[in-house]
Amino acid sequence: MGVDLHVHSTASDGSATPTRLVELAGEAGVGTLALTDHDTQEGWEEARRAAQATGLDLIPGVELSLEYEGGMHLLVLWLEPGPGPLQDRLEWLRLQRDERNTRILDNLRQHDLVVTAEDLMEEAGGGSVGRPHIAAVMVAKGYVPDISTAFDIWLARGRPGYSTRPRLAPAEAIGLARESGAVPILAHPHTLGINRAEDMARQLEELRGYGLIGLEAIYAAYHRHEREGYIDLARRFGLVPTGGSDYHGSYKPGIGLGVGYGDLEVPETVVDELAAHIG
Ligand SMILES: [Zn+2]
Ligand SMILES: [Zn+2]
Repeated sequence: MGVDLHVHSTASDGSATPTRLVELAGEAGVGTLALTDHDTQEGWEEARRAAQATGLDLIPGVELSLEYEGGMHLLVLWLEPGPGPLQDRLEWLRLQRDERNTRILDNLRQHDLVVTAEDLMEEAGGGSVGRPHIAAVMVAKGYVPDISTAFDIWLARGRPGYSTRPRLAPAEAIGLARESGAVPILAHPHTLGINRAEDMARQLEELRGYGLIGLEAIYAAYHRHEREGYIDLARRFGLVPTGGSDYHGSYKPGIGLGVGYGDLEVPETVVDELAAHIG
């Protein structure tokens, strides 16, 4: 059975409902699926209910953006929804996210691009709102031809619409994840923007020192040689090489749940290796 440890639902910036994700997993032959919405576990209850009648092994998770000069994302798997050290911080993160969205809309308005809070609520369908939703509204209003152009011209770091937000520091996030009994994984490591092998080594040493368990080596967007390189790297630093599609539905066209661009294969053994660290 297939494994996909990184997917987003309508609870954050995916276009598929939690129920639909469970259906898609069935269609793709995925036996183990982790729900990893940004900063929220609001999709969990629905996904759990949808998965009940199926044989799907569903893992509760979350994806966090950490304080780091490039982009550092942390997947936290087996994070039990409800109160807990990291769980309690998610509310604060969502508040920061909302305030940041307001600043982005203000920035865009200064360039006569009008996206309202109501537009965003409608686009997000009640889930947590992020930049992909803002981009989608910009496309719908004809300001840009597609979502990736919206990011390139307006919403990416350093572009006129961009606004930053407070994030958890890597040590704090990884520490809270472990205190919560969950398993922290460095997502899509290329976004760290580190090119030199010795710099990457130093960074991974540091994160492992905080309690990092896995490295997302088998990422949908990576070529085969990149995956092999990251798998080697993970093993060298005692990290579990994990994998996932980062499925967002229509917000990231071309990527299929469980299959990525068609060549995603995450071994089931990875799940057991990770699960050994729960608790
Ligand atoms: Zn990410
Ligand atoms: Zn993601």
